[in-house]
Amino acid sequence: MNLTFSHEEQAFRAQVRRFLADALPGDIRKRVRLGRHLRADDHLRWQNILSAQGWLAANWPTEHGGPGWGPVERHIFDEECAAAHAPTVVPFGVNMVAPVIMKFGSPEQQQHYLPRILNNQDWWCQGYSEPGAGSDLAGLNTRAVHEGDHYIVNGQKTWTTLGQHANMLFCLVRTNPDAKKQAGISFLLIDMQSPGITVRPIITLDGAHEVNEVFLDNVRVPVENRVGEEGQGWTCAKFLLTHERTGIAGLGHAKQALLHLKSLASRIEHRGKPLLALPSFRLRVVKAELELMALEVTNLRVIAAARDGGAPGAESSLLKVRGSELRQELSELTRRALGPAALPFFPDFLHGDASLDDVHAQSASASAQYFNRRKLSIYGGANEIQKSIVAKTILEM
Ligand SMILES: Cc1cc2nc3c(=O)[nH]c(=O)nc-3n(C[C@H](O)[C@H](O)[C@H](O)COP(=O)(O)OP(=O)(O)OC[C@H]3O[C@@H](n4cnc5c(N)ncnc54)[C@H](O)[C@@H]3O)c2cc1C
Repeated sequence: MNLTFSHEEQAFRAQVRRFLADALPGDIRKRVRLGRHLRADDHLRWQNILSAQGWLAANWPTEHGGPGWGPVERHIFDEECAAAHAPTVVPFGVNMVAPVIMKFGSPEQQQHYLPRILNNQDWWCQGYSEPGAGSDLAGLNTRAVHEGDHYIVNGQKTWTTLGQHANMLFCLVRTNPDAKKQAGISFLLIDMQSPGITVRPIITLDGAHEVNEVFLDNVRVPVENRVGEEGQGWTCAKFLLTHERTGIAGLGHAKQALLHLKSLASRIEHRGKPLLALPSFRLRVVKAELELMALEVTNLRVIAAARDGGAPGAESSLLKVRGSELRQELSELTRRALGPAALPFFPDFLHGDASLDDVHAQSASASAQYFNRRKLSIYGGANEIQKSIVAKTILEM
């Protein structure tokens, strides 16, 4: 089934485009366009603007203060944001823990946390993975012992994205080591200022400080910070993961990356001709473009089914695998197009405000982005795991 946009949906797209043209600060737009690392303040400033517009919580129902958009509006919004070089909304509060609190949280938790997320007052991070528990998440070992009206938490989380800015952590902990793996897990909301929490940076290949290790050493967490019943954490965890994978194909970003690549390859010369005219290079660009078109149609089919009341299932795994492979291929081609010019590493440009002329600015982030994109096939459930899901549920193997 193909999706054609109604007049209302087209008008909505125009409204979003106008808003982005007026409201997205030029310096933030430029940082995103040039692939520079965003600072906490860049995220906060943009998210405050979205919050004031009532558009921060794009996936929330109106009863909790969201805009009440359906899947088509959300798709249009994401696409326009990527085209305008707007920062991606930090997902851990608004897109991940919020749906869990709405579904499993107590009325008190809903009244306390949801408005704070909507108003951008808390910065959440995700404490799922551990050194020995990634794909096999249910093997996690962080231990929480119930003592009076507190849990005493000990353990280590890893790959905690942007945890250095966060004041809240949603965390999977083992409350019953004797129960079956999944049955002994609970879901806790932990204040990052609690004594006993240490955050250590992990610097990734692109030189960025995006992920962290989080150590929990006798951290006292009030029992009222548990979401759902003790031992029900796995249900919350799985529910959250379906939200984590939504939109993970990154189609808007892939479109921008393709446009950028084509523009570069038509300006860069190879033996007196534009690189884009070189058959071997052109073939890879054309293949990537065809992949992108196919992925977009698949994505629109999934959205059309959701508009008609269907829920995306294993299709989201399919979109994740193809979308991440495509974005990796586009970053590889961009690096190849720039050749040796992509080699220099300019940390002052990537992290700070140092300026570069336009030619160097184009190249400065190419390798960093190439390295950064390696993560796409790992996080949100590694691609090998997604392929197994597709094999089992779609191909019935
Ligand atoms: C940049 C980045 C940010 C992240 N942010 C967060 C975060 O904020 N919070 C958080 O909790 N986690 C985060 N993660 C962790 C992420 O969810 C895990 O890395 C991911 O689940 C894979 O787990 P792992 O790294 O332990 O790899 P492993 O599970 O050890 O897997 C290693 C390799 O073996 C393969 N493999 C494992 N099991 C199977 C199997 N059964 N069949 C076939 N192949 C298999 C995997 O596909 C992978 O290629 C982040 C990761 C990255 C890279």
